[in-house]
Amino acid sequence: MINHSSTLPLEDLDFASNSEANLNRNPVSLLEAQMSELTAAKGSPSSGIFELCEGSFFTFPYKDEQTRTVYLKRVISRSSSVFGRGTIVIRVECACRHCLPNQCNWQGKELVLKLTFPIETRVSESMFMDRCKELAQGEHAWVLNHLPNIYCSFDIPFRIGLPQDSFKKEFEDGDEMRVMRGTIQEELKALSSLKTAKEYAQVFCDIVQCHHWVRKCAQIFHRDISKGNFMVREKDGRKYGVLNDWDLAIWINNEHAKPTSLIRTGTRPYVAHEQQSVHWKGPHRYRHDLESLFYVMLLLVCLYSSPNKKVSHFEDKEFRIEEWHRWNDESLRRTKICVIYAAPFTPPVSPFFSGFRPWLTKLQGRLRRGLHNMGDYAIEAAKQEASQADTLPTFDTETLGGHFSCEQIAMILHMFNNEQLTTYGLEWQKTLERLSCNQQQK
Ligand SMILES: [Zn+2]
Repeated sequence: MINHSSTLPLEDLDFASNSEANLNRNPVSLLEAQMSELTAAKGSPSSGIFELCEGSFFTFPYKDEQTRTVYLKRVISRSSSVFGRGTIVIRVECACRHCLPNQCNWQGKELVLKLTFPIETRVSESMFMDRCKELAQGEHAWVLNHLPNIYCSFDIPFRIGLPQDSFKKEFEDGDEMRVMRGTIQEELKALSSLKTAKEYAQVFCDIVQCHHWVRKCAQIFHRDISKGNFMVREKDGRKYGVLNDWDLAIWINNEHAKPTSLIRTGTRPYVAHEQQSVHWKGPHRYRHDLESLFYVMLLLVCLYSSPNKKVSHFEDKEFRIEEWHRWNDESLRRTKICVIYAAPFTPPVSPFFSGFRPWLTKLQGRLRRGLHNMGDYAIEAAKQEASQADTLPTFDTETLGGHFSCEQIAMILHMFNNEQLTTYGLEWQKTLERLSCNQQQK
């Protein structure tokens, strides 16, 4: 948790108040009235300006020009701004006057309020999730267990003449306006709520399946695979891995439409190594997200000795994994190349997570072979261009020549410690059957 000592508390912004009389005031005017004071505040608006006050009320626009109010309970997370991002998540309770079953659609639900500060044209997480809900019918319905459940979404604009200028400086967006975007969502559990290594394995397996479905069926790309976005939903006595936080997602067809400051996304220790190069110009590929998944797994199983406990006095002389969260892009890029090309690859996996070692070794092996082949191909292609020949077959950079495809990853992740994990959806089951048959025939 980051501590911002220089920030104004939310109550000073008149953003929320304990008094009944304030409950129905227009939140936009509350925001504007106090914004001039904010220009002097340091840091990005998400991490520095808004200090939510636990134990107060928050009113926001709801459908048909109405408002709704929630009671702010406890700040769950607050991420600092990386590439124009910065999110506050706070546990809330519906504060309607008669919050009773059958009278309030939020009664009895565990709710969080999530606040982000995107440019106003950015598609909202709730729009992406609405698209998924539309498509998740019949045999696809399983995917909803692995996606966040968003109950409502609202934008509060910043009025021209107010501190947009300071936001522009913070975010270097040029002329793009930012909004404060809020959603009320179902509260999910953190990864640390899991009990066994196998539960972790199933969560990883679930998230790969969900990520693939959303890309293939809904044409949406997540682009921020990081540990903080891996969550758990407990439902009917079962645990499901949830791929959370679709704030940086894009429609696949629009990927190249508008190069903004968001072309490079993600959370630094987990970003694919190519994307950390100053020369990287895109596009963001599916395999970049898979590479991020590999780093999420690597850091988790090396740095944690149990779900809630970090390894004490951890020191990794080879890759210095314990320092990754402090490093810049170039240091991370170089070290990640060392990780990918290490042979043999023997990461310092903690005993609790020892079942992950074969997964990591296999994933690293596939990544290494694929990138190696891509390098060889580039050399051959350059030679060919010089000799003006045209005999070289094409190389699939999307999957690193088939070595780092979703199918190959699924093949690795569907078994853990010789036990079969759960796969959902007919397509997955058929793919795994086909690949198993192919392997047996070889
Ligand atoms: Zn209510």
